[in-house]
Amino acid sequence: MPDVGRAQPPRVREVHGGKSEGVSQGEVLPGAAPLVEGRPSLPRLREAAAGCRRCHLWERGTQTVFGEGRARASVLLVGEQPGNEEDLAGRPFVGPAGRVLDEGLDAAGIDRAQAYVTNAVKHFKWEPRGKRRIHQKPNWTEMTACRPWLEAELAVVKPEIVVALGATAAQTLLGRSFRVTKQRGVVVESELHPRVVATVHPSSILRAPDADARRAALEDFVADLRVVAGLLR
Ligand code: SF4
Repeated sequence: MPDVGRAQPPRVREVHGGKSEGVSQGEVLPGAAPLVEGRPSLPRLREAAAGCRRCHLWERGTQTVFGEGRARASVLLVGEQPGNEEDLAGRPFVGPAGRVLDEGLDAAGIDRAQAYVTNAVKHFKWEPRGKRRIHQKPNWTEMTACRPWLEAELAVVKPEIVVALGATAAQTLLGRSFRVTKQRGVVVESELHPRVVATVHPSSILRAPDADARRAALEDFVADLRVVAGLLR
């Protein structure tokens, strides 16, 4: 696979919504074309990504978990990385976080069947704890190594709007200074896409300390997704 070079943090500016702070400076990232020979398509990209060795995470995960969904989806959702179930199944958002995502999308009036879902990092990063595989957050080097695959998906799907689910996805799309806690639920522009909305990762809702906190976190998540739904109408 040809080398596509080292990705740089994208610039970001708020489109509307009032809460955005901080602007990261960077260069325009390389496009999708170098990742595959000829015209990129989702099947060709998926096939190429299956053999990706751009960072060391291929050694740890069971397989590359590429995005899936409609080839011309109006909304493209980006998570952090595959979890344990996703790693084994080879599909994004099929585990517990995926079920929370489905619940949130349904409540917001967004049909997941009309969307494309993927992750910022496409191999499962984990460490052993007894017999369990415990999630480890990908670092910036791993995020930038994997970003060309996301760029390629964006270039092929051409969504109307991109949703960043959690800090890793948001920082991949919007730069390291982006803070989901301060800038969630507003439309911002990055060099990777003109309309990005960031919200929390659904797994954070599962980690809420009690049922009340979980309910409140889900309501906030749905409110962010309703911003997306409003833009799609
Ligand atoms: S995490 Fe991404 S960049 Fe790293 S090996 Fe997997 S697909 Fe390639």
